[in-house]
Amino acid sequence: MAKLTVEDLPLEGKKVLMRVDFNVPITDDGKVGDDNRIVAALPTIKYVIEHNGKAILFSHLGRIKKEEDKPSKSLKPVAERLSNLLNKPVIFVPVTEGKQLEDAINNMKDGEVLLVQNTRYEDVKNGEYVKRESGNDPELGKYWASLGDVYVNDAFGTAHRKHASNVGIATNMPGKAAAGFLMEKEIKFLGDAVDNPQRPFVAILGGAKVSDKIGVIDHLLDKADKIIIGGGMAYTFYAAKGIKTGDSLVEKDKIDVAKQILDKAGDKLVLPIDNVVADKFDNDANTKVVEGDIDDGWMALDIGPKTIAEFEDVLKDAKTVVWNGPMGVFEKPNFAKGTLAIGKFLGTLDNATTIVGGGDSTAAVKQLGVADQLTHISTGGGASLTYLEGKVLPGIAAISEK
Ligand code: AMP
Repeated sequence: MAKLTVEDLPLEGKKVLMRVDFNVPITDDGKVGDDNRIVAALPTIKYVIEHNGKAILFSHLGRIKKEEDKPSKSLKPVAERLSNLLNKPVIFVPVTEGKQLEDAINNMKDGEVLLVQNTRYEDVKNGEYVKRESGNDPELGKYWASLGDVYVNDAFGTAHRKHASNVGIATNMPGKAAAGFLMEKEIKFLGDAVDNPQRPFVAILGGAKVSDKIGVIDHLLDKADKIIIGGGMAYTFYAAKGIKTGDSLVEKDKIDVAKQILDKAGDKLVLPIDNVVADKFDNDANTKVVEGDIDDGWMALDIGPKTIAEFEDVLKDAKTVVWNGPMGVFEKPNFAKGTLAIGKFLGTLDNATTIVGGGDSTAAVKQLGVADQLTHISTGGGASLTYLEGKVLPGIAAISEK
């Protein structure tokens, strides 16, 4: 890849500003609920401190729209968890600008770690929702950039957003803004899959809505050899083909778009043959498997056994697979079979690069215990979708070229 990486930067004795993704769940008693994202950032942080850099970490946590949002969105619990994981102290600075922050940075010794308060504290000033971070206020990016010598962006999850802590800092440090290891990995896997795939390249798209994924389908139609459609979005395609959908999820205003996609796609698009239908949206609903038309009073909540076999047949020779969106309502055990079967099958494809594109599909493969068998699980839902749409991600674009 042509972007600068952390390995290209001078780190010894340098103040290394780092954008990480510590947007983790915080429990009601103020503890980190799930530290996956903190763990994922460790390789880059460790690399910086092992090379005697001063690691100055920036992250957002949740959204802040009013002063009262601030206390529950403090990064303090994250600093504590990070300190445990690194097995060394982490200096936590409870503010995002000013003398307290500047002094703390200037007092750092080589190899130390400092975490700045939630960057989105800047979104609310004196009770007003000013969005300095989320709106990429030019002064804020410039100020944060002035606090360090070099910049490392390891937060792929926010790369589709243009914020002061990613785009703002990077553009104020030309030639010195690099990708961290996590970011580098995401660019490599998603980038190669879409732009330079080993063929056959099969995309699997699922989830609730067609409307969220029209851009992805459009872009991948030119790139992929086959596109498998499952999940709720399949039934808008059913409607477009004149197949009865009963009470299944259908986006009526997207039926025309679905028709256009079907016309353009020819046999590239693979739709479910049969479905598990239920008489209510409930794990304990009465269910049956039906092929084709779905009667009123019944809704399709998972793909059926013939469809699983059909999808596996399409996937068996694939060399690259990108998966975004579950095949059914996987949160309810009785409708998780399709998603589980596809996840398990991908795990058996030894000669293929299998990539899961973040969001609900990541949750699904983790919940179903098949994550370990896949090549790459993206850390960013929105960011990976934007990537799959073929759009430029501002956070990546702002990283310096080699
Ligand atoms: P998305 O965020 O678009 O990837 O959608 C994920 C959501 O789609 C999950 O919460 C699934 O329960 C839901 N979903 C998948 N299949 C169906 C379906 N057949 N009917 C309704 N919802 C579904």
